[in-house]
Amino acid sequence: MIVALAGGVGGAKLAHGLYQTLRPDALSVIVNTADDFELFGLRISPDADTVMYTLGGVANNQTGWGVAGDTWQTLEMLGRYGHESTWFRIGDRDFATHIMRTEQLRAGQSLTATTHTLTSALGIRAWLLPMSDQIVATEVETPAGRLHFQDYFVRRHHADEVRGVVFAGIESAHITAEVDAALGQASAIVFCPSNPIVSIGPILAVGGMREAIAAARVPKIAISPIIGGKALRGPADQMLAGLGYDASALGVARIYGDLIDGFVIDQADAELEAQIAALGVRVLVTNTVMRDEGDRRTLAQNVLRFAASLASDDATILKELTD
Ligand code: GDP
Ligand code: CA
Repeated sequence: MIVALAGGVGGAKLAHGLYQTLRPDALSVIVNTADDFELFGLRISPDADTVMYTLGGVANNQTGWGVAGDTWQTLEMLGRYGHESTWFRIGDRDFATHIMRTEQLRAGQSLTATTHTLTSALGIRAWLLPMSDQIVATEVETPAGRLHFQDYFVRRHHADEVRGVVFAGIESAHITAEVDAALGQASAIVFCPSNPIVSIGPILAVGGMREAIAAARVPKIAISPIIGGKALRGPADQMLAGLGYDASALGVARIYGDLIDGFVIDQADAELEAQIAALGVRVLVTNTVMRDEGDRRTLAQNVLRFAASLASDDATILKELTD
C-alpha cells in the first residue's frame, strides 16, 4: 500500500499519477477535510471531491475542480431566489454529490463510509480516506478579521494578507481506524504537492496522525508545491510568507522537517538542493510541473523509485507498480 496525503488540485494531480502507476487498490489517499463547510444545507468536501472526480476520470480539467461538462441551472435558480451564496460555484452534477453525502451523514453514516460509497459508485478502486470523521474548519486571520476558509479563498479570491491560520475543532479530531490501518500497511508515504499550511497542515494536526506517520518505518517523501518561490496557483506562497516561513521549496522542507526522509524539488530550484540536503533529507531534483496526464504518471514513477531507493526493502514498493 502506498499512502498519499493530499489537498485539492495539486494533490489530486499526483494522486492520479500514482493511481495510474500502481495496482488500483494499492493506493490510499488521506485527504484534507478542513476546507469542508455547509452551504444550502449540504455538506461540501471540496478537497475530497476534487480527488474523487480526478481519480474517477470525471474532473473538469480546465478548472481542476468540479465535474467535466457540468451545467449551472440549479445555481442560477438559487440566484433568482436571491440566495447570497452563489459565489461558491456548484454545478448541477456536483450538487448530486453533496446531496448524497449529506443524506448519508444525516442517516448516521461516517464521512469515511459515505466517501467510500461515492468513490465505489464512480468505479474508483483506490481508498479515499477523509483525514478524520470529526468536523474541522480552517479559519484565516486577516487584516479584515477572521474569515472562514471558503470566504477567504473563493469569495475574496485569497487576496487578504494572511496573519494566522486556525483549525477550529482540531482538538476533538482524531484519525479514523481506516487511516490508521492504511498507515500501518504503508510501504511508502507521499506528501503530495499540496498547500503545506491549509491542506497538509490540517491533516498532520489531526490527533494521532503525526504519531502514526512517524511510527511507519517506511520512506516518507514530500513534493514541493512551491517552484521558484511561487505557488503554481493559489495562495501557498503568500501564506508561507505571511506566517513567517520562507516562501520557497526550502521553507516547505523545513515545515515537514523530521517527518520526511526525502524531498522532491523542481529543476528550477536545483540551487536549493544542498541547503535542503543539509536539513538531513535526501533530495530528488526533477520536473515537478504536471501539465498533462503523462507528467502526472512520470512524476509518480519518479517519486516511487526515489522512495524505493530510500527503503531497506525496495522490492515492496516496486512490486506495487503495474509496469
Ligand atoms: P487546493 O486544495 O485545491 O488548493 O489544492 P492543494 O492544496 O492540493 O494544492 C495547491 C498547491 O498545488 C499549490 O501550492 C500549487 O503550487 C501546487 N501545484 C498545483 N499544480 C502543481 C504541479 O503540477 N506541480 C507542483 N509541484 N505543484 C503543483
Ligand atoms: Ca483545498
